[in-house]
Amino acid sequence: MSGITLDIKEFHWMTQILDTMDAGLVVLDLDNNVVVWNHFMQSYSGIPSQSILGHNLFDSCPELPKVWLEAKIANATMLETRCFSSWENRPYLFAFKNFSPVSHGNQFMYQDVVFTPLKSLCGGVSHIAIQINDVSETAHHKIYLNTTNKQLSELSRKDGLTNLFNRVSWEQSLQKEFERMLCAMQPCSLVMFDIDHFKKINDTFGHHVGDEVIRATARTLKKSVRKSDVCGRYGGEEFTVLLPDTCAEQAELFAERLRENIEKVIVEHEGQKIHFTISLGVCQYHTEFKSHIVWLNSTDEALYRSKDGGRNQTQVFSFEDV
Ligand code: GH3
Ligand code: MG
Ligand code: MG
Repeated sequence: MSGITLDIKEFHWMTQILDTMDAGLVVLDLDNNVVVWNHFMQSYSGIPSQSILGHNLFDSCPELPKVWLEAKIANATMLETRCFSSWENRPYLFAFKNFSPVSHGNQFMYQDVVFTPLKSLCGGVSHIAIQINDVSETAHHKIYLNTTNKQLSELSRKDGLTNLFNRVSWEQSLQKEFERMLCAMQPCSLVMFDIDHFKKINDTFGHHVGDEVIRATARTLKKSVRKSDVCGRYGGEEFTVLLPDTCAEQAELFAERLRENIEKVIVEHEGQKIHFTISLGVCQYHTEFKSHIVWLNSTDEALYRSKDGGRNQTQVFSFEDV
């Protein structure tokens, strides 16, 4: 008799532990009827235990992912081992509101879930315990860290003045494209251009006006290209554009259009209207180019001929001119 009294006492304080634990606890029998629904589950779901105990979980919570959850339960029951589900694979099982101050506007509570098979006195699995852990804070920090890392890596690839790709990352794109060209059927062209007499702009109006001319050039370039084109600031006032699926004739048309667009740009400084021009070199990929550097140098050679020919013009690389 005294043994039974002790069991009831134990049961009483054990129930209090389950009710006050800072995690959700649901215990199901093998027909998915709820036999434990602790205080955490009541507060977040709004379903009092007296209205769910003895009822089928899926009838009471129809929004649950039934197929997935049944598979998890079957797994834990058959293998007689614990199963886990991480917020990174499935953000939550129960769609609970998140009241945490670090919720960052996220409405739901991120959850890690543990499925534990419970054995009866006879030894077989008779119930499944589902523990819901609120991991919103960890999840938010990890998501924030991932976003920040992505932004940082994006920043390190961009040039601060123009937001175009910087030399290193643009060259990486070029190298990738070069490797792709080794087995590609489509043509691909490079355009390299340089602002004419830029030193004079710096010397006459000052470095900050020179900077604005560089920015205005980048803006015009961005407006003139397709989404698939890769634009880079290669050096001070030197720019590069990779034009996939573009032959030399099409690239020359693009270069001439860009040159004309730049002619129309006006940078104003203390009431003065500053005009400027660019010289361009165009070069289509050729199987004779043994590396991306050779391809780039050939484009630079065409640019040099534009400068040499009087500036504000486009020249296309040709093996005959070498
Ligand atoms: P060319 O027509 O032959 O290209 O003559 P240029 O005067 O433009 O040629 P050069 O390449 O000799 O001059 C480029 C100048 O650009 C030299 C450098 O001081 C300046 N420069 C390089 N980077 C920047 C920058 O970020 N901002 C400004 N304002 N000037 C820069
Ligand atoms: Mg120049
Ligand atoms: Mg230059």
